[in-house]
Parts: sequence; structure tokens; C-alpha cells
Amino acid sequence: MLLITCPHCGPRAESEFHNGGEAHIERPKDPASLSDAEWAEFVFLRDNPKGLLLERWNHTQGCRRWFNVARDTVTYEILAVYPMGSQPPALDPRRYV
Ligand SMILES: [Zn+2]
Repeated sequence: MLLITCPHCGPRAESEFHNGGEAHIERPKDPASLSDAEWAEFVFLRDNPKGLLLERWNHTQGCRRWFNVARDTVTYEILAVYPMGSQPPALDPRRYV
């Protein structure tokens, strides 16, 4: 089980959180113009890297607030926690593969 540090509540067990998937997904600028295939790509296709992954998490059993996490998918090490709407800290993805 992961120990996740909520930026508002401090370290808590993973069971208190909900994973919201990959972070920094760019929404379509003109949604009405997308084809079904383009919508499917936007909704379903995500990166699945071996190594550094930027994710959104929600503290559902605590403050209910969203935040971003940089996590190594191989070691499960949480490398950084940072606020929604901000860019991730500088991390070298080659270091986490
Ligand atoms: Zn919290």
C-alpha cells in the first residue's frame, strides 16, 4: 500500500484516495469538431509508461481535494506532490525507468 502525502492533510494510507488517472491531459479546443475516433482517443487512450508517470489523485476520505503526483510505476515511489493547475517539478524521466 502506498503512503500518499496529501498537500492539505499530510501522509495518509492509499485507501483514503482515488486515482484520477493521468495528469495534464489537454482537452479538445473545439469539441464539436471531433470525430468519434478522435473522441475515443481523447477519452480512452493514455500513456502507460514504465517509469515516471504524472497522475491526479483525490483525497476522497479526507479533504476531498484534488492534487497531482509524480510516481515511478516500477518502484511505486512517489517523487513529488504538487497542486492542480501547476506544472510538475523538474524530474528526469530517464532516471525512473
Ligand atoms: Zn487531504
